[in-house]
Amino acid sequence: QWIFLGGSFVRKEDAVVSVFDHGFLYGDGVFEGIRVYEGNVFKLDEHLERLYQSAQSIMLDIPYGKEEMQQIIVDTVKKNELTSAYIRVVISRGPGNLGLDPSSCSTPQIIVIAESLALFPKELYQRGLRIGSVASRRNRPDVLSPQVKSLNYLNNILVKLEANQAGVDEALMLNDQGYVTEGSADNIFIVKNGKIMTPPVYLGALEGITRNAIIDLAKKEGYTVEETPFTRHDVYVADEVFLTGTAVEVIAVVEADGRKINDGKPGEITDHLLDSFRKVVASDGVQ
Ligand code: PLP
Repeated sequence: QWIFLGGSFVRKEDAVVSVFDHGFLYGDGVFEGIRVYEGNVFKLDEHLERLYQSAQSIMLDIPYGKEEMQQIIVDTVKKNELTSAYIRVVISRGPGNLGLDPSSCSTPQIIVIAESLALFPKELYQRGLRIGSVASRRNRPDVLSPQVKSLNYLNNILVKLEANQAGVDEALMLNDQGYVTEGSADNIFIVKNGKIMTPPVYLGALEGITRNAIIDLAKKEGYTVEETPFTRHDVYVADEVFLTGTAVEVIAVVEADGRKINDGKPGEITDHLLDSFRKVVASDGVQ
């Protein structure tokens, strides 16, 4: 396996970074997770856009232009001879001194990892997920925007730990007012009376690229899709609930806080959207 690190490709065994890297010391940096389907990098422009916006927001200058970065990502996939893969792009502040001031970091570290994908087990899609709300809240957008996909994922990790402790598959993360925002690393949708709903991102969700792709797809197929605030109650009484994300694609939720959703089986619209999504991903991407 070849990793893009420090301007060139190095073997996995040699892909090491400094202990003085502020990405390591402070979680100072940004990242993206991207999928490759049948040799096509899915929604690469959208991922690059989000990466550069995350970087801009935390005053991190990526030393490559978007086109160069795009080439590096595509080259990493080719170098590893992958047709179906998960790509992780990491831009850290780079090595500096022990103080947290980023001024001591002169060069950001650019890392691109492409791996053949360990797919989520089929059974999970057939059975659906059990989710549970947690005490930890989504950080307020005015403190740190959820749109910054930063290397500091401690909030999401704490949420995941709480979900693990509660014995559920994924967390239902609320904002400080109690509105549903998203999962630990995926967006949430509910379906009620044929209408598909997802929280507006201003409530405190990352504007997921899969989320947006599903909204477009569902609209194209004639469904009504609304970005609207909802609470846990709306999740409990929904006809269907599902999560979306780069890694998980579209996955049904069949239980929330111990309440069975509808008949406790993945919903029809959910299954249909997963099917349609899998059909479009293969034909849509950068080679
Ligand atoms: N929400 C959070 C907090 C995430 O980290 C992710 C993963 O990227 C998502 C949602 C899903 O976004 P996407 O569909 O762009 O992968």
